[in-house]
Amino acid sequence: MEKQPTILGIDLGTTNSLGAIMKDAGPEVIADADGESLVPSVIAFDSEGKVTVGTAARAHAVENPLATVFSIKRLMGRSLSDVREDLTHLPYAVVAGPRGSACVNVNGQVRAPQELSAIVLREIQSRAAAALGEQITRAVITVPAYFDDAQRHATREAGQLAGLEVLRIVNEPTAAALAYGLDRQTDATIAVYDLGGGTFDVSILHVSEGVFQVLSTNGDTRLGGDDFDRELIDLITGEIRERFGREITFGPATRQALRNFAEAAKIRLSQRETADVRIDLGDGRVYTRAITREEFEARIQSHVDHTLEHCRRALSDAKLTASEIDEVILVGGSTRIPLVRRAVEELFQRRPYTAIDPDRVVALGAAVQAGILAGRKRDTLLLDVTPLSLGIETLGGAMGKLIMRNSTIPRTATETFTTSVDGQTSVDINILQGERELAEDCRLLGKFQLTGIPPMPAGAPRIQVTFLIDANGILNVSAREERSGRAAAVQVTPAAGLTKEEIGRVVKESVRHARRDMTAHRLIDVRNESHRVLGAIDKALANAADILTDEQRRKLDAAVERVRTLMDTNDDPDELYRAMRDANDAAGPLTRYQMDEVLSKTFRGKSAKDLDPRIGTEE
Ligand code: ADP
Ligand code: MG
Repeated sequence: MEKQPTILGIDLGTTNSLGAIMKDAGPEVIADADGESLVPSVIAFDSEGKVTVGTAARAHAVENPLATVFSIKRLMGRSLSDVREDLTHLPYAVVAGPRGSACVNVNGQVRAPQELSAIVLREIQSRAAAALGEQITRAVITVPAYFDDAQRHATREAGQLAGLEVLRIVNEPTAAALAYGLDRQTDATIAVYDLGGGTFDVSILHVSEGVFQVLSTNGDTRLGGDDFDRELIDLITGEIRERFGREITFGPATRQALRNFAEAAKIRLSQRETADVRIDLGDGRVYTRAITREEFEARIQSHVDHTLEHCRRALSDAKLTASEIDEVILVGGSTRIPLVRRAVEELFQRRPYTAIDPDRVVALGAAVQAGILAGRKRDTLLLDVTPLSLGIETLGGAMGKLIMRNSTIPRTATETFTTSVDGQTSVDINILQGERELAEDCRLLGKFQLTGIPPMPAGAPRIQVTFLIDANGILNVSAREERSGRAAAVQVTPAAGLTKEEIGRVVKESVRHARRDMTAHRLIDVRNESHRVLGAIDKALANAADILTDEQRRKLDAAVERVRTLMDTNDDPDELYRAMRDANDAAGPLTRYQMDEVLSKTFRGKSAKDLDPRIGTEE
């Protein structure tokens, strides 16, 4: 069969743009040589007329404000009078072009937004061509659902100027829903919450058998991540002036640096509780500050509240209540902020979809649309059942399966785990997919950390891990420590990146390695158990060593020593198991006299395979 030329899916964003293509295993973003897929939608012109695009251009924004064009999407298909309000925020010269259209004057040359967007599109196109080793001439490009005909037309023209035949213009929220496979729904109402760099929009969609209808849209074209950066910049500059003098001024280089610091701190606060900022102001003046997530959240709360008001309006325009929404999808880099996720979840009373990277989901959906146009059939086989088993990594590197392969979906499974080290306050949860017995032979789907567990003896905390795979094949994994109520969760797409061939290969491999895998898994179990038995013996000895006769003590020490040696050197689980049993027996006199809780439990003669699964240790 002749290979069809690839159709590129493109998310042409206000802040960032990127491309994706459809592969056998599903949609995939195009990355450059450094693995970076986002292209900042920024174009810089130098005095000789040389053009730079993306990250390099963005670095010039402050030092060369008149010749660095960003947010060009705001001008697409608009007249100068349409964009009056935007002008105060755009440092470059926006002028009237043909028929009053908004254009940009860079170094004396008037350029239409289409032309400028075409530069970004061409960058994405050439990256794709380089990655795929073929010419790219056809594309699907996304636009906000609220774009009118003129704006859509301008986007099409931008594509043409870049040498692309634009097969379809797709709404961004529709693309996001396509990326999640929601086109297969027969009758569903979907809310798409998109918080990007400079814009917020929410769309309510209805989908039935592949046909999407926009029920309502709402939003604010002046609300996004830039506002959050500005909050941090204000905080920092205010404090710098307080500390080092009111008269201090910030030149272009400092302002650029501040912007970068603020954004980096913001991004860090999506992951961690604090972010350290350190700014060297010269002359020995150094500003340092640890910003906490709480502080940041307080500063952005009112912005987030505004987005919720827009959501309520969108709902009311669609004549729907929050409870009538079947799925909520998060789109846009700013939805990585935990406060945003919580707020959306609370409003819609359901966990929003976050499994697909929010700043790539639109491009991935554009690629899905491109695949549909190219007549590619998606593997529906993967969707009614879990094609491969799902579980987590347990102590010693074993795969603890919670949901077996070929389970029908939706499905939920819960298991209780515990800690393996005294005073352990956090556990890493690695979500695995595959049929092999060792974690290292399975696919790592995602991971998260449950922190803030109150210090307790090993084995005391009860950590409930729940897998919930819903009707769309999205897997929610959550962990909750019962005593403290501390919880954490993550969402992943288990079927993403899998082909039928790959599934077949994984299953075949597991059969081929079955015997070796079983031994390896049992060895891990027996080692874990040995570790616990030795720990219990140590504790008992510390409490009541004097009740042993010299002979008993000598026997016990020898038995313990043998277990220790075997744990380090041996890979025969049966031999280790026998040694552990001997040590257990040798410790018998201790247990008969005095037992603490742990001791009695450990010595109750459990066989290795009866053990509670345990979660992997953390330092
Ligand atoms: P757009 O659709 O407007 O082009 P994106 O969806 O790419 O923009 O979102 C860009 C915004 O997302 C920027 O303000 C960026 O700082 C923000 N962002 C990216 N990652 C994170 C993160 N981990 N936490 C908070 N904000 C983030
Ligand atoms: Mg976007």
